[in-house]
Amino acid sequence: MTYELNDKVKNLIPYDAVAGNYEIRLDANESFLDSGEALRDQFLSALSGIALNRYPDPMASELCKKIAKFYGIDPGSVVAGNGSDELITVILGAFLRPGDRVLTFSPDFSMYRFYGTIYEKTNLLAEKEDDLILTAGDVMDAVSRNQPDAVILSNPCSPTSLVMSREDVLHIVENTDALVILDEAYMDFSDQSIIKVAEKYDNLILLKTCSKALGLAAVRLGFAVSSPKIVKALHSVRSPYNVNALTQAVGTVIFSNPDYIKGAIEEIKKSRDELYQGLTGLRERNGVRRVLKPETNFVLMELDEAERVYEELKLKSIIVRRLGDYLRITAGTQQENGRVVSALSEILEVMS
Ligand SMILES: *Cc1c(COP(=O)(O)O)cnc(C)c1O
Repeated sequence: MTYELNDKVKNLIPYDAVAGNYEIRLDANESFLDSGEALRDQFLSALSGIALNRYPDPMASELCKKIAKFYGIDPGSVVAGNGSDELITVILGAFLRPGDRVLTFSPDFSMYRFYGTIYEKTNLLAEKEDDLILTAGDVMDAVSRNQPDAVILSNPCSPTSLVMSREDVLHIVENTDALVILDEAYMDFSDQSIIKVAEKYDNLILLKTCSKALGLAAVRLGFAVSSPKIVKALHSVRSPYNVNALTQAVGTVIFSNPDYIKGAIEEIKKSRDELYQGLTGLRERNGVRRVLKPETNFVLMELDEAERVYEELKLKSIIVRRLGDYLRITAGTQQENGRVVSALSEILEVMS
């Protein structure tokens, strides 16, 4: 046998979410509220009605109707996916062509560039300014410099936790010929969504996930909102049964409970604000450079010795996400937020 792995895949390492047992997990921006627990009876009843020997509805029609009703949009503008991650792979892998120029910003969600590489796009990168704020002007400058076929960005952004205004986003969409892939994974925690007008634009794909605000990361459900032309193309290139029947059933239940969703979002925002308050209380301490005001369910802080602090937190059985000089800390329960703030306080005390 002489088959050798090609250069593209030879040195890749499988994605490994932080393994190990930690008492407090604030690393993945999941919801600290388990929707499965809250709506258990409804989920069980929906799941028990599924014929497991049959393929699921390839269009996920019932689910898309409920999603559309919740967000006040047209059901025909919604395409469901196996997590928004799958939709990103469908867009970068099948919708765009090999070699297409894809513009991303840094820092932003790392998977954009990862899939861009895997699917052999031409990755173009624009660095954000030191304040990490991205404006329409920054994006338009990068677009005119790079002449991309597609631009992909998250708003609010992970990891910066900052949001771009609706006016800025619409300015970008209306003034570029490139395809704009707008990832609103965290927009439930902010108020600058353009989801209600997304279907009007022929160069926009808006992405949403149920993994964050909706507390369903285990279920793998995301969706795209777009114009009829793009929706048709997305349906044509995705795999026909991309969203399994169990996920469709669970998704249909969650979106049939708008009051539950709104209550959960309020609770998470409250936790986020408490965590932000707690962390800003450490702002004057040695080693803390800044704490950004979040529009997400996590807080980003910059430290002199982020790596050391990160390792010390792990020793206290608390896992967060480290990105260079930054720690990205997901809002947890009141108790978890209290624990991470006091652990940080102790660590900074010893280090200074
Ligand atoms: C978590 C996250 C996603 C992934 O969502 P899934 O639906 O779980 O695949 C997409 N975009 C951003 C910016 C995220 O943080």
